[in-house]
Amino acid sequence: MIPSPFASPLYLMAKPVGPACNLACHYCYYLEKSRLFADPKHTYMSDEMLDLFVRSYLDSQTMPEVMFTWHGGEATMRDIGFYRRVIELQQRYGRGRPIMNCIQTNGTLLTDEWCRFLRDNGWLVGISIDGPAEFHNEYRRNSAGKASFAQTMRGIAMLQRYGVEWNAMAVINDYNADYPDEFYNFFRDIGCRYLQFTPVVERRNASGALRAGSDKDGEVTDFSVTPAQWGNFLCRVFDLWRRTDVGSIFVQLFDATLANWVGQPPGICAMAPTCGHAGAVEHNGDVYSCDHFVFPEYRLGNLRTHTVAEMMYSPRQNAFGAAKRDSLPAQCRQCRWLFACNGECPRNRFATTADGEPGLNYLCEGYRKFFAHAAPYMDFMAAELAARRPPSNVMTLP
Ligand code: SF4
Ligand code: SF4
Repeated sequence: MIPSPFASPLYLMAKPVGPACNLACHYCYYLEKSRLFADPKHTYMSDEMLDLFVRSYLDSQTMPEVMFTWHGGEATMRDIGFYRRVIELQQRYGRGRPIMNCIQTNGTLLTDEWCRFLRDNGWLVGISIDGPAEFHNEYRRNSAGKASFAQTMRGIAMLQRYGVEWNAMAVINDYNADYPDEFYNFFRDIGCRYLQFTPVVERRNASGALRAGSDKDGEVTDFSVTPAQWGNFLCRVFDLWRRTDVGSIFVQLFDATLANWVGQPPGICAMAPTCGHAGAVEHNGDVYSCDHFVFPEYRLGNLRTHTVAEMMYSPRQNAFGAAKRDSLPAQCRQCRWLFACNGECPRNRFATTADGEPGLNYLCEGYRKFFAHAAPYMDFMAAELAARRPPSNVMTLP
């Protein structure tokens, strides 16, 4: 199975093109980050910064194996020469440790040369795709409004032809959330073995800027998934997966739920008790607490003046990670699903509890429905694991 980058103790998502992208997906949380930079039209990482980043990142790692993730914007807007330099630098500074690379892409710019590079170097590819054409093209378009599904599927076909390992990363929004059968069957039909999906919950303040966390200023956008939609979607996709595909299709959220059920690290930061070990490094060397908290107030420093370890193990970052647990409202602390949910991601904690306490996760209702629905099957799979039998036996249940 593709290892989750968030399972490692220190991890930075690298932005070699900053927020630059050849698409302009309607709900993208990262496009507007160009506002953070003095020269928003030039957000490519320099060779000098790349060297600094790779060296500092490798020096900070405590694990025997190191994972790099190249993210955007659209990371394939950099030419392959940039990534060849990445490999050279990793070899120069890696002290012989095994190094893995993941690249996150919309797939539209993949070429034969790209696929050969990815295959020859064993890179893992995450493809952003929201389901069949009708769902995908609803929001994933370029700035001229041109749909991107055909190009993304062309990219997936090329990866498959070259034998490159890939996973699908889908955004669940107000539209595709209502079609779990069509959504899940599509991925099964195209031969996807690793499926990740993330609920889109975005808020904009009066000036149109995105907000995150407990900031009260901000209306939920109409493309966001509602808590009820999220719960229904999860329950139905879980049923489809549970009946026929356990052990052959890996759905990250279900794996994470089972991990929490048996007391193992979930591998998704959102479902872990604390966070703070997964930051983001921008093209100019600025390091932020998390890819979803790239706001000025969450900037930890810059690689020109601080090492990765200094920033990521700083008291400020430790406090950021611990706040996930320490700021839970009483409703979460008393919740029977706390062990599985952990209040999910702090960026979505802007609702109020039944008692009027702030800080409840906006998606709480959906998660409660899902955990209650999945509980008997999770109990069963946990018992199978304890008895050293495969959890896929859950498919024999009626
Ligand atoms: S804030 Fe959310 S996305 Fe960021 S590391 Fe924590 S749980 Fe993960
Ligand atoms: S299900 Fe709701 S109340 Fe329970 S831990 Fe999750 S967010 Fe909190």
